[in-house]
Amino acid sequence: MKLFRFRGGVHPPDYKALTQEVGIERLTVPRKVRVPLVQHLGVAAQAVVKKGERVLMGQLIGERHGFVSAAVHAPVSGVVTAVESVPHVSGRSVPGIEIENDGKEEWHPEIKPVRPVTREAIIAAVQAAGIVGMGGATFPTHVKLQPPEGKKIVLLILNGAECEPFLTCDYRLMVEAAERVIRGAVYLMEALGVTRCVVGIEDNKPAAIAAMRGAAAGQSGIEVESVRTHYPQGGEKQLIYALTGREVPSGGLPMDVGCVVQNVGTAAAVADAVETGRPLIERIVTVSGDAVERPGNYVVRVGTSIGDVLAAVGVDLEKCAKVIAGGPMTGLAVGNLEVPVTKGTSGILAFTEAWVKASEPAPCVRCGRCGVACPIGLNPTMLETLAMKRDVAGLQVFHAQDCIECGCCAYICPSQRTLVQAIRYGKAQIVATRKAKRN
Ligand code: SF4
Ligand code: SF4
Repeated sequence: MKLFRFRGGVHPPDYKALTQEVGIERLTVPRKVRVPLVQHLGVAAQAVVKKGERVLMGQLIGERHGFVSAAVHAPVSGVVTAVESVPHVSGRSVPGIEIENDGKEEWHPEIKPVRPVTREAIIAAVQAAGIVGMGGATFPTHVKLQPPEGKKIVLLILNGAECEPFLTCDYRLMVEAAERVIRGAVYLMEALGVTRCVVGIEDNKPAAIAAMRGAAAGQSGIEVESVRTHYPQGGEKQLIYALTGREVPSGGLPMDVGCVVQNVGTAAAVADAVETGRPLIERIVTVSGDAVERPGNYVVRVGTSIGDVLAAVGVDLEKCAKVIAGGPMTGLAVGNLEVPVTKGTSGILAFTEAWVKASEPAPCVRCGRCGVACPIGLNPTMLETLAMKRDVAGLQVFHAQDCIECGCCAYICPSQRTLVQAIRYGKAQIVATRKAKRN
């Protein structure tokens, strides 16, 4: 297969050595979980349980509301102690459900494998299991499996690039459970009606490439490709370009170039949903950073607070200066340790003062490095100016909505300007203006 190099990007130190050889372990399930009804892109799920009700593991507690939404299930058995708002990593509060864990780990009796495994049954199982993109994008997977009329999908791409520094959860999954990921790919191919799947993995992960090639051997239509280690290789558009040479148009989606991209963790969740009927109630989270005594990759139940995770892996909060949910390039700083782990939490990083660079942004020196680094070809410094001026028309002319928030511009900026925050602000202005026009 001919591989292509996407423009721009950066090459930050990866710090993966802290956790990449640490095998996946299960984290103790907490006494209390707080499960947000918004763990996905789209409309919030609606609570279908009440305070005081006993629930079983895997029981539906939040019903999908509309097509672009995802179901939410009880990650433990126990009693619902509140249906109220829970803290979210964005700093907002979102509707959620609190469950007091009874420690019995009692699964809901209606959870069973899918039989027979037809295209329709796979899509229904993915939808019922509340599966969303686990690379962090959290787009409901059943939506990607049902492209609109006229969009012909010819290729499934499994994203095993894991280009964010520190994160190794996908790497460990591919090394330890490659067969499960490949079985998930086969179900996804069946659901999409495609005969070809390419798995893209960065070339700094030879053990994952070998494990996935071994698991894919003999599976017709599945290839495992090693792609260049260069951030953001794991961005959907960048991976599609690297593997196919096709460019997703401005404002477009992968399906516009005949592709559907799924994260390897999502594929594993699909295999679980089809083969056991179990919904998405836990995920692998990389917990790393210099403040962490036992860095590693942990299976964590959705709804576990970040504070509980940090306590379990030995973080002295007195010495901890910063906590990030996700990776350092695209993740968000956590201001409240009560924020729960969700289906999209790929990492939790905790740093001491020694690793936290606190500096004031300096004026832009017009060096142009941010534009060179931008993998989309945007002009980040112009977008920052337009966002601060609240110039919505200008933001649209300069394609602010195409920004993938990869952080390359801010990483490379010698003046340490907070470019991504500014562009996010600008994108929010575009969304608000469109909404106001609709109403
Ligand atoms: S403008 Fe957006 S897409 Fe471009 S480098 Fe900055 S964050 Fe990434
Ligand atoms: S990299 Fe920073 S200093 Fe250079 S042009 Fe962009 S915003 Fe300005």
